[in-house]
Amino acid sequence: MKKENILGDDIGFIELVDSLGNDLTIVNSARVSFGTRSDWKYEEVTDWQDGGKTAITYKRPSGLKKKDKELVKYLGEHKHFSPYRHVYLQFHVKMPETIAREFYKHCIGADYTFKDHAWNEVSSRYRPMNEFHTPQSLRKQHEDNKQASMDECVENYDELMKMHADLLEHSNKVYQAWLDAGVCKEQARYNLLFSFYTEFFWSASLQAVANFIVLRDHPSAAKEIQLYARAMKELAMSVSPEGLTALLENMK
Ligand SMILES: Cc1cc2nc3c(=O)[nH]c(=O)nc-3n(C[C@H](O)[C@H](O)[C@H](O)COP(=O)(O)OP(=O)(O)OC[C@H]3O[C@@H](n4cnc5c(N)ncnc54)[C@H](O)[C@@H]3O)c2cc1C
Repeated sequence: MKKENILGDDIGFIELVDSLGNDLTIVNSARVSFGTRSDWKYEEVTDWQDGGKTAITYKRPSGLKKKDKELVKYLGEHKHFSPYRHVYLQFHVKMPETIAREFYKHCIGADYTFKDHAWNEVSSRYRPMNEFHTPQSLRKQHEDNKQASMDECVENYDELMKMHADLLEHSNKVYQAWLDAGVCKEQARYNLLFSFYTEFFWSASLQAVANFIVLRDHPSAAKEIQLYARAMKELAMSVSPEGLTALLENMK
């Protein structure tokens, strides 16, 4: 599953590449304390084949049983977070370097006994960087909050973006000239603007994902990372809706 065009310039995306576990994993990680195990609630489904002549009836999972939903909620309310950490998600993210630096601060992935999560990123030592984020609007600096922006935009967008386009063109020209002159990529990149798109794989537990969403899908976070956090929430909800909801309600 992939959410594309996150910043409106048709470049960035966040994709759920893989996942381990789901709502039932959380339930059974907790139920092992009692030496028990639960299963999905099943619903009976009928498919008609041979042009509607033959009925094939089978059962398919239709979510958690009521008592298991209550258990997932209970665990969140009482901050028994370890069962949620058995659910693991792997994302492929493409975003401007400016926000990737903020993303990188989320360094706890699987379990608090491990310091690091798994993070692998494209290298500007190996590959020339040639995609840049172009803001679709220019928001005003927030009047009360030193780090934030307001929804209101400046009026002279065209004029300011022309200046930006000139700067970008010049920076790319010098970057290319250095490469053409045989300078290594690891030094030529000093000419690049910070708006270049980077991409990385980030694997993290459901709890770490929830922590990211709580902090970044929040008005105090940069607008651009809020958009990624919302897309991540939608993707993570497809894996563990009960688990993520319980975490988000109780981690604030
Ligand atoms: C609005 C905003 C503004 C920010 N501004 C700045 C800034 O100006 N400069 C800057 O450098 N950073 C800034 N940050 C980044 C911030 O300081 C955090 O590094 C980042 O949000 C990651 O959060 P985290 O530490 O909860 O995540 P993770 O590192 O993923 O940790 C997840 C959770 O694990 C637990 N944990 C982690 N490490 C330990 C430990 N050693 N011992 C015990 N428990 C642990 C904590 O409960 C933590 O919440 C900002 C963040 C936000 C949201």
